Amino acid sequence: MKNAKDIEDKYGLNLFAKRGISLVRGEAARVWDDTGKEYIDCTAGHGVASIGHAHPVVVDAMTKQGNLLITCTGSFYNPVRAELMEKLIKLSPSPLSKVFLCNSGTESVEAAIKFARISSGRTEFIAAMRGFHGRTMGALSATHNPKYRTPFEPLIPGFNHVPYNNYEAILKSVNENTAAIILEVIQGEGGVHSGTQDYFSQVQELCKSQGIFLIIDEVQTGFGRTGKLFACEHFDIHPDILCISKAIAGGFPMGAVLCSEKVKISFGKHGTTFGGNPLACAVSLAALNVILTENLPQQAYEKGKYFLKEFSKHKLKVVREVRQFGLMVGIELKEKAQKYIDELQQEGILVLAAGQSVIRLLPPLVISYEEIDVVIKKLIHVLRD
Ligand code: PLP
Repeated sequence: MKNAKDIEDKYGLNLFAKRGISLVRGEAARVWDDTGKEYIDCTAGHGVASIGHAHPVVVDAMTKQGNLLITCTGSFYNPVRAELMEKLIKLSPSPLSKVFLCNSGTESVEAAIKFARISSGRTEFIAAMRGFHGRTMGALSATHNPKYRTPFEPLIPGFNHVPYNNYEAILKSVNENTAAIILEVIQGEGGVHSGTQDYFSQVQELCKSQGIFLIIDEVQTGFGRTGKLFACEHFDIHPDILCISKAIAGGFPMGAVLCSEKVKISFGKHGTTFGGNPLACAVSLAALNVILTENLPQQAYEKGKYFLKEFSKHKLKVVREVRQFGLMVGIELKEKAQKYIDELQQEGILVLAAGQSVIRLLPPLVISYEEIDVVIKKLIHVLRD
């Protein structure tokens, strides 16, 4: 087998902080590197592989649809796409009734921004500090972290960032040109922080009374991650526009924007070559079927509670706080997290960072209780030192 490290280092743009290992295989919550070393994967490809790696139902859907029709632009109807659109609308919070299919999280946010602008006739947006919405120019304008933004300024004008979970700050920022407020229900990259019920209720009411679009970004939280199919359900949020991606298609690249009837856009104003291709749609239908039949949101709820209960039995000086919503877990440390993340990798546990000091766990929702026990044991081992 070729040495991926040497070749990627030579030919890849140096955009990722590489983790040193080369992954070649995955199954459920486990992955293997090219030396045969096994890991419990609490990254799930940044929250993508919720149904686990190489799920046979997904592999089967991929093979069957691959043999039938892979590409088919939106100019032509396609029964698999039609079935997925109907399914997404049936599963999503009201009043969402229309779908735009795309290929990634950032594309879904990009589209949402355009939809809100054209439908409202307004040009300003309110987004949250610590919020992350992607890296294309529109989504980056909504993203807060200066590390990602500053090198690319000037970005799209009219984006105001206010402290998260602070309704007064939103009130102060709103004006007659505000097209939309864009928020994550639980900020993922920002360190696993949730807003409160009051905050979301007030924001929702404000949007309704001022004709402002409420864009909720569930790219990371969607499809069971937080213990409900959509995190919106925790707070009875009814967005005008919902951005989804990551777990939507079992690891296959896909995104979607779900819109209420308030979104008005005519043909030609937005589009995509690959979005809604039958292969992605077939895989998504298969993945959604697994999520629903195996009741993965409930599994995430129960396993997340179990993790918190067992992990919290150990008092660790280095841990400041644990924030847990289903199987979206942020362990905030009193110091930088990277050293511990590297040590965990050596111990066979892959985890993510969120900012400088948070260890973030986004395991496949099918992770077993035995695997959770191993993750806890290794966390304790590494964090206790
Ligand atoms: N929105 C949120 C909340 C995310 O967590 C991410 C990615 O982590 C994105 C948008 C961007 O998604 P993608 O990396 O697929 O472009």
